[in-house]
Amino acid sequence: MNAFRSNTPDRTFEKLNTNGNFTRLAVSPGIINKHYTPAQFQKIAEVVGDSGAIKYSASYSILLSVPTINVNEIINELQEAGLYIAKQGPIVAIKACDFCDGDKMEAAEITEHLYEALHEETVPSRLRLNINGCASACYNAVYDDIGLVYQKDSFDVYLGAVPMGANAKAGTLFAKRVSVQKIESFLQQIIRHYQKHARPNEPFHKFYRRTNSAEFWQALKPSLISAFGVVSF
Ligand code: SF4
Repeated sequence: MNAFRSNTPDRTFEKLNTNGNFTRLAVSPGIINKHYTPAQFQKIAEVVGDSGAIKYSASYSILLSVPTINVNEIINELQEAGLYIAKQGPIVAIKACDFCDGDKMEAAEITEHLYEALHEETVPSRLRLNINGCASACYNAVYDDIGLVYQKDSFDVYLGAVPMGANAKAGTLFAKRVSVQKIESFLQQIIRHYQKHARPNEPFHKFYRRTNSAEFWQALKPSLISAFGVVSF
C-alpha cells in the first residue's frame, strides 16, 4: 500500500519554518529539458541534506526547502550541476513542453528568444506563458495565462484560461498564426496592457475577463490586425 503510505508529510515547508528559517527553490533541468541526470539528483539530495525537504510540483519543477542561511551557496552548487532555478514573484514565468524529448525542436530557438526577452518583465501578478511545440499541445498550453501553440513558423495564441478552481477552464483563441518574427512584439503589447490597466495583484485571467471588451483592447485591435494578421476577440 505504498500509494497511500505517509499521506501526511512531516517535513512540509510550513512545518520546517516553525522551527527554523527555510527558503523554497523551484528547480528543474531547464525550460525545455525535463530529464534529470543521476548526478543532479545526487546534488539535490546533498544540498537538501537531513534538514530540508523535497517535493514535486505541478509546474514541471521540484520544490526544495533549504536552510536560508546557506541559500546562496546552495544556488551556486545547483547551477554548477546544470540545474535551472526559477525566479519567484510577479514576473512573466515561461514554461514549455519538452518538444517530444528533443525530436521536434522547430520552436526551440524562438522559445529561448522569448525567454530572454520576457522573463525579467515585472507584472501585477505572476503570469504563466506556456509554449507548446505542436497542435497536440500535450503540455496544456491552453490552460495557462498565455498559451502559445506552434504550427509551421507561427503561433496560435490563447488567452483567458482559469488555471485552477471550480471554474477552471481553457483559454480562448485570441490570435491565429502570429508569425515567429512577430510573436515577441505581439506578446509585448499584451503584457503592456496588463502592466498598465490591471488592478494591483490582479491575476491575468481576471484582468482579461474584466477588460476584454474595454476600449483599450478595441483600440489595439486595428493595429494588431494590420501588424499581425488575423485576430479574434
Ligand atoms: S506539444 Fe507537441 S511537440 Fe510538445 S511534447 Fe507534446 S507532442 Fe511533442
